[in-house]
Amino acid sequence: MSKLSQILREMIAQEGPISVERYMALALGHPQHGYYISREPFGAAGDFTTAPEISQMFGELIGLWAAEVWSLMGSPAHIRLVELGPGRGTLMSDALRAARVAPAFRAALQVHLVETSPVLSERQRQTLADCGLPTSWHSSIADVPQGPAIFLANEFFDALPIRQYMRTPAGWCERMVGLDEAGRFIFGLSSDPEPYIAAEAPPGAILEISAEGQRAMTALAARIQTQGGALLAIDYGHTRTDLGESLQAVRAHRFADPLENPGEADLTAHVDFAALGRAAKAAGCRVHGPVTQGAFLNQLGLAQRAMALAKRAAPDQFDAIEAAVYRLAGHGPADGPNATMGDLFKAMAVTRPDLGPLPGFQTEPLA
Ligand code: SAH
Repeated sequence: MSKLSQILREMIAQEGPISVERYMALALGHPQHGYYISREPFGAAGDFTTAPEISQMFGELIGLWAAEVWSLMGSPAHIRLVELGPGRGTLMSDALRAARVAPAFRAALQVHLVETSPVLSERQRQTLADCGLPTSWHSSIADVPQGPAIFLANEFFDALPIRQYMRTPAGWCERMVGLDEAGRFIFGLSSDPEPYIAAEAPPGAILEISAEGQRAMTALAARIQTQGGALLAIDYGHTRTDLGESLQAVRAHRFADPLENPGEADLTAHVDFAALGRAAKAAGCRVHGPVTQGAFLNQLGLAQRAMALAKRAAPDQFDAIEAAVYRLAGHGPADGPNATMGDLFKAMAVTRPDLGPLPGFQTEPLA
């Protein structure tokens, strides 16, 4: 049994069932035993792989995207490039290297990393040690110093805890995690329906709300609205607020039971881009997209980047470059060993109302 399982069992035995939101927050972010706090989960030997870990092209294209956004902003003398949840620091490292082609942009940059995990912050410090730019780390978005900023968030919002509600004849009741007679975690429901949810649905329907994600988006958009800048969010998710359950656990590249061994598996939920977009607009910002990751990367020149890379690569790397393009932007199956990210993942940007159109978003947004 994981250490965190023991802690959560004792907590529930003493205090009663905890919400799915609290369970997810502790499974991922418990100060000692949370999944992200205690390990480096990425790559073939880890639990899952993310786009920047698939290929350097992903971070490079995003670095060039940021340089263009900066230029559309009127090339301010100072700009913060802020990454939320930077993992191993790979995306930022690739982005900053690609930005060498835009020396005025690079000269304007101050790099900020927002990360809650000490293990991953340390890893990011190693990755960025030679990036040649001032870098600083913060444990929350609110600690990033004021001023115009470009925020990057790849697979950040999906790691924020969600609330789940189930429709019952009495109304929407929050889903809780309790213990069965054998002391195993089980889902249950709060007995008091939530009075603020108006959605209609048949009994048994599940509704997910990422209150924390929406709070983060509201704060980011308010900041962009007053101080200028942009946010790029890329994640797997849906473009309409819909019913259904998406909480999932992944361990060693396979789906696992979210209630088994908390702290040992990654827990994520699909990102509700419609809800994030509404939060950004309510804070006075313009929303670009969402578009599919495939459309976004293709428009930024993924194919050209792949060709440029292939020209400098050894012939035995050609297949790997081609495979990376397919995984990042292809339209194949969304899961399994040959999963592609092109359609499942979406990109969305947020700016002040007067900024745009932005590179990568000049296709019809998804409905
Ligand atoms: N962007 C990286 C990593 C994605 S995994 C990549 O694409 O490879 C999610 C990341 O978000 C991890 O670095 C995790 O530690 C971090 N994280 C999770 N919750 C966070 C929070 N509330 N604030 C800041 N970082 C967080």
